[in-house]
Amino acid sequence: MVYTGRFAPSPTGPLHFGSLLAALASYLDARAHNGHWLVRIEDLDTPRVVKGATDSILYALEQFGFEWHGPVIRQSDRLAIYNDVLTELLSHQLAYPCNCSRQQIRQRTGGSHYDGYCHSHPPQSSHCAIRSICSQHYSFDDLIQGPQPAIGQNEDFVIFRRDGFFAYQLAVTVDDAAQQINHIVRGSDLLDSTPKQIHLQQQLGYPQPIYAHIPVATNTQGQKFSKQTLAPALDAHQARQQIIRALVFLGQQPVAELNDCRLDECLAWAIEHWDINAIPKRMGIILEDN
Ligand code: GLU
Repeated sequence: MVYTGRFAPSPTGPLHFGSLLAALASYLDARAHNGHWLVRIEDLDTPRVVKGATDSILYALEQFGFEWHGPVIRQSDRLAIYNDVLTELLSHQLAYPCNCSRQQIRQRTGGSHYDGYCHSHPPQSSHCAIRSICSQHYSFDDLIQGPQPAIGQNEDFVIFRRDGFFAYQLAVTVDDAAQQINHIVRGSDLLDSTPKQIHLQQQLGYPQPIYAHIPVATNTQGQKFSKQTLAPALDAHQARQQIIRALVFLGQQPVAELNDCRLDECLAWAIEHWDINAIPKRMGIILEDN
């Protein structure tokens, strides 16, 4: 089976250093295994999608020397597929409608943990979220973060939002299976999502990919480097320098000669010397703001 990895950005802003790390780590791991690397645009959360961001991310990836396999898939083109899966889960009684507001959940439980109320009290209204029934805990082995025990509270989680959007957990699980992704390298801010995705894989009879969660870059205030914290867009004129900076962050040891070579030579060196075991585990490494 050919190694198939992916980079799945949400087009909520331009490519920044945090997303470059996920792109680079997933790319190098795929290329070091002679595998395929796919790009998927996760543009389901329409209110957060920024006009022009998809094109700007794809352009930046090109400028940074990434080459992807096959066409770029956009989740907004796949709503009918998610709808079929949702219908399947509902018809097998693996999911149920829920119209509880956050406030109602808080009043009943004192927190945000969902208590399964609508499973035993089916709502009458049509304006509902859909939750996946999840009564099990899942453990998995992460190539970077190590064994992840089946702990924490499990709850029936949302796979279709009350505001009418398919939830990330459903779309990502369906797409990873449809694209035959067997290796997922992404930021460790998504570590908590992985058991939910494994749960859906099991409900839907999909194979489970191998996971590797890289540390998340933070700014000097300890906030995740992201579009929300206004991480600056990357300057494509500095592509090689940014790739070297990302390699250092990922625990690789770029040699000094890379400072004087072309971008493609730099990436070729990085593929050849890629060592996933050298990636630091810990989260929240502080970077200089730039
Ligand atoms: N679209 C998600 C993000 O940009 C990443 C999803 C994933 O890698 O599973 O944060």
